[in-house]
Amino acid sequence: MPGPGSQWIGREEIAEVLDVLESGSVFRYGDLDDPKFKHKVYTFEREFAAGCGVRHALAVSSGSGALICALKALGVGPGDEVVVPAYTFIASFSSIIFAGGVPVLTEIDESLNIDPADIEPRLTKRTKAIMPVHMLGNACDMDAIMAVAAKHGLPVIEDACQANGGSYKGRRLGSIGRMGTFSLNVFKTITAGDGGIVVTDDEALYKHAFGLHDQGHSPLRSGVEVGQRSVLGMNFRMNELTGAIALAQLRKLPRIIATLRDKKRRFKEMLAGTPGVSFRKLNDLEGDCATLLTVLFRTAAEASRVSRRLGTTTVDHSGWHVYANMEHLNRYLAEMGLPHDRGAYPRTDDILSRAINLSVGVVDAGLGAGFGIHIDSTDEDTAKAATAFQEACR
Ligand SMILES: *Cc1c(COP(=O)(O)O)cnc(C)c1O
Repeated sequence: MPGPGSQWIGREEIAEVLDVLESGSVFRYGDLDDPKFKHKVYTFEREFAAGCGVRHALAVSSGSGALICALKALGVGPGDEVVVPAYTFIASFSSIIFAGGVPVLTEIDESLNIDPADIEPRLTKRTKAIMPVHMLGNACDMDAIMAVAAKHGLPVIEDACQANGGSYKGRRLGSIGRMGTFSLNVFKTITAGDGGIVVTDDEALYKHAFGLHDQGHSPLRSGVEVGQRSVLGMNFRMNELTGAIALAQLRKLPRIIATLRDKKRRFKEMLAGTPGVSFRKLNDLEGDCATLLTVLFRTAAEASRVSRRLGTTTVDHSGWHVYANMEHLNRYLAEMGLPHDRGAYPRTDDILSRAINLSVGVVDAGLGAGFGIHIDSTDEDTAKAATAFQEACR
């Protein structure tokens, strides 16, 4: 039971996929005027861009692929440094490394997102971009981040892979920086099994990213290409079957987010006032995807005791997003002579050791959210989970 979108796969997805299979056209390119070509990826891109409030959306094969295309489109290459929070999925780090760059980690704050005050001290002559990550469905402090970026003339690439459908001060997450990226893997708000999206308002960056994702071709492979390919690209294309599922899921996104917000509000109300427990700071309460509810304790010992009683873990012991628990990342950082292993980012270590993620829409023991509710939980289920939590806190 991973993300909310995966739980709501149904008739709509089946109909879209059958539409593609009956047409026989499974490749993303085709003649838009030919009724036999169903152009699901094309339609998905246009509807995604409209929903996100950006001019361009490019569908790709994964969120990791989206990050690689965006980083390379922004010119990140050998030796370039990209500032990224210490609490994020491995793909934020590995995409920078695969683009030839070096991830420079920063502390998080009690929003569990990048601490904007820790960005400037990490900047060097080699810094090429800043990559805030909207962790667990909620916005980074974008005003502060954009101000630091503007001051130093650096582009911001938003990793919005965990926050599809969220917003910050009325603007959709992913649409605020120069480029934004999303994932459609099965743990995200909506899913197509796998898949990703790059968004930008900048035409040149869109064209560059497009070429990177499809062997140097220009958008939609239009025009005569041989002799005119501007970049060496790769294949990060999305196919029509994936596009079909993604399209059906995208149309469910508003309903998914609204449902989760409603469930989270009730769950949170029931937990409010539990002695010794506070909630993660939200940089935008209304724009929250509401996929998770993170609670903070005063000490690591208290958090640990409660998590054991609930049969879950504190966030610092979860496997997926904690830099200190990423043996493959730490091996790389050690080889590069960079800070690594637990202790390298002490404020991040401290916050994560006092935090427990309760599931609301994303149920994933790997991120420490093995306890909580899910998108189809009833009010009674929610009340039961809230009572169990409060008993564990006694
Ligand atoms: C899921 C995720 C990605 C991309 O993951 P893919 O599995 O490649 O789609 C990138 N960054 C973050 C923060 C994520 O959570």
